[in-house]
Amino acid sequence: MDTLVAPALGTGEIQRRAWQIGTDVAAPAAPDVDEQARFPSETVEALREARLLAALVPRELGGLGASVSEVAGAVRALALHCASSALVLAMHSIEVASLARNGTTGPLQDLLAEVGERQLLLANANSEVGLGGDVSRSFCALVPKEGGYFLDKQTLAISYGEYADAIIANCRRSPEAAETDQVLVVCRPPTLLLEPTSTWDTMGLRGTCSKSFHLTADIDPKMIFPVPFSTIANHGAGQLRQLLLSATWVGLAEAAAAHAHAYVRKAARKEQDKVLPNAIRFSELVLRLQESRSLLDSCTAWYEAVKDDDEAIEDVALAVALRNLKVGASRLAVECATSALTICGIEGFRRDGIFPLDRVIRDAHGGLVMVSNDRQIQDNAAVLRAWKDI
Ligand SMILES: Cc1cc2nc3c(=O)[nH]c(=O)nc-3n(C[C@H](O)[C@H](O)[C@H](O)COP(=O)(O)OP(=O)(O)OC[C@H]3O[C@@H](n4cnc5c(N)ncnc54)[C@H](O)[C@@H]3O)c2cc1C
Repeated sequence: MDTLVAPALGTGEIQRRAWQIGTDVAAPAAPDVDEQARFPSETVEALREARLLAALVPRELGGLGASVSEVAGAVRALALHCASSALVLAMHSIEVASLARNGTTGPLQDLLAEVGERQLLLANANSEVGLGGDVSRSFCALVPKEGGYFLDKQTLAISYGEYADAIIANCRRSPEAAETDQVLVVCRPPTLLLEPTSTWDTMGLRGTCSKSFHLTADIDPKMIFPVPFSTIANHGAGQLRQLLLSATWVGLAEAAAAHAHAYVRKAARKEQDKVLPNAIRFSELVLRLQESRSLLDSCTAWYEAVKDDDEAIEDVALAVALRNLKVGASRLAVECATSALTICGIEGFRRDGIFPLDRVIRDAHGGLVMVSNDRQIQDNAAVLRAWKDI
């Protein structure tokens, strides 16, 4: 698997560390994680040891002070070996970035330092039953109680919720507030309680353990972000979500390509004088892979260029490009996976074959639904129909 996709020598340290964890820990564990639909605890422990859970924590707070493109590279490198593990790193890093950027109060900065020091794992409870992936609204609200607030949220899914040290949730500011008037709050034990309201027996991404939960927690007023949730979402968090989740779909396209590449090279060694049909199909697959990587690279470069500019980060054109990245990368992952199956034939179809593609194909389909592509396309359509230029 190393030939096509292993990080080159010039690749940064963060991506190389993730690749190493991918080969040494995530890949051997992945079949069992998938089979049992269990949390990839050994991989997350390895990420902790390599301090990658604090990749986006500034150096002065004990983190690695990595860039977003470095973390996207790490997510991609891990996804090639275990997409569920990659999603854990991606989702956690999105919350860390939110905290770093918008958690400007002393107590929230202390929490960020705790992530740096103790490698806490953060999860999110954004989607809500009845609202799905529409995070611009909430039904649940902060209810005042002595010493703070109480939150009661019927969540649609919280990935690795039962394994997280803290869960960051959006909710209405008060019971009287409009559905769009939201704040972001940190829920922590011992008052954080999660009662599962579903199982997680899915066709793919089984290691994310993204059950629905009835979440209740007492909320310390110091654990409420000082800016509205809409500001947080528009000023980087929403953009970063699209980027880092998409890095997983790019990594899955790379996983599919790696299987197909190994197959084609093996065949070529036997018939050195002929270019076999599989090699031509593989050449087409590499075009798809290049499209996928380019989508991610161009959007990451755009994000990096404007991330500190409050106006440019909110550019609608960037939002459109990022939704296209999400739709494009998730579709390309599925295309690359099915194309790899055609190339590897029965050896890819057999779960015990030499180039098994079963898990990659199932995981890749998760990208289509993890916030539905139709929702992204609908949002872009609403913007694009009013544009004069594209
Ligand atoms: C692996 C995985 C992990 C997840 N982890 C988390 C997590 O950690 N935290 C969290 O909060 N949530 C999580 N979620 C939930 C996720 O964020 C979405 O809420 C969920 O996938 C539902 O997305 P949806 O509402 O866009 O579409 P669905 O509920 O799947 O909608 C069904 C269909 O309706 C159509 N549709 C719905 N709305 C629209 C619209 N506005 N425009 C056009 N068509 C529409 C689409 O065709 C869509 O396919 C996870 C989901 C998955 C699959």
